[in-house]
Amino acid sequence: MRQKFVIGNWKMHTTTAEASHLATAIAAGMGTDDRVTVAVCPPFPYLALVGDRLKGSRVALGAQNLYPAQEGAFTGEVSPTMLLDLGCQYVILGHSERRHTLGESDAFIHHKVRVALDAGLEVIFCIGETLAQRQADQTRTVLDRQLLQGLDGLSAAALTHLSIAYEPVWAIGGSGHHATPQQAQDAHAIIRHRFGQIFGARSAQTLMIHYGGSVNPEDADALLSRPGVDGGLIGGDSLKAEPFLAIVQAAIRQTQTPVEAA
Ligand code: PEP
Repeated sequence: MRQKFVIGNWKMHTTTAEASHLATAIAAGMGTDDRVTVAVCPPFPYLALVGDRLKGSRVALGAQNLYPAQEGAFTGEVSPTMLLDLGCQYVILGHSERRHTLGESDAFIHHKVRVALDAGLEVIFCIGETLAQRQADQTRTVLDRQLLQGLDGLSAAALTHLSIAYEPVWAIGGSGHHATPQQAQDAHAIIRHRFGQIFGARSAQTLMIHYGGSVNPEDADALLSRPGVDGGLIGGDSLKAEPFLAIVQAAIRQTQTPVEAA
């Protein structure tokens, strides 16, 4: 069975004091149950601090982005080497805010994925359709394009270091819309099926697919209990220890009731 995974994406939030307090509270509240993998992704300036606060806990450190080069004249950018140096194990790539607000193309994201994997980072690769695309019945086409172009040419070995976060753009960031557990399950099944066609059934079987889209303690059980929903990428509710830890508890509960993989 694929292990459940809960990731906190702090986006461009927190101050030094808040990041320190939040990381300390999450580490302290995590307990010793190791059936769920947990990671938090603070803003770049707080990676070292948060890494320090997480020391000795079972919470891993991740980054929200990188630039696809080891070093060089790239003013303002952060390399995979720097992330590893700061203790990052994970990096989020292809987030919809980077695709739609910052204009990142599938080709650029593909380059980042390759460089991150080559460097030894574990990639959390985000895909998802906008509301207009869903309403125009283009969900399948969009997911297909993002998968094909974002992961083109990756080896089966490299793919064992990559998981996918399905994030319907219309349901993230407090949009007021929520995907139902059935909608999440259906989209995950589409992704896993297509992934299997491209990379083989074996890769599809071990692939972790997380759901992201305003996940909160109230709907976490319903979402995480769905076949094929292997974890959650949490934005808003990762900014306070209590709801984030409650979602981790929901994931732990789901490990006690194994479900059939979709
Ligand atoms: C996200 O944008 O990664 C996310 C899941 O945000 P939220 O939980 O706030 O919708």
